[in-house]
Amino acid sequence: MSIATDTTLIIRCPYCAMGIEFRPMIAHKDGRFVCRDCAHTVRPGVPDYRCTCRPCLRVGAGRL
Ligand SMILES: [Zn+2]
Ligand SMILES: [Zn+2]
Repeated sequence: MSIATDTTLIIRCPYCAMGIEFRPMIAHKDGRFVCRDCAHTVRPGVPDYRCTCRPCLRVGAGRL
């Protein structure tokens, strides 16, 4: 039980992770992870990637 499957990457949605039950985001073939609840998407290793889901648009509008 010492070897972990490092290929398994679990990403949790920052917008839906506030509840008691965390929901892992779904991995897509193109490398993106999509949240089933709010449609938030992330790309691990791509900091310039911008998601266009509702919560992200809200944050962007608030900053600008
Ligand atoms: Zn979400
Ligand atoms: Zn988003």
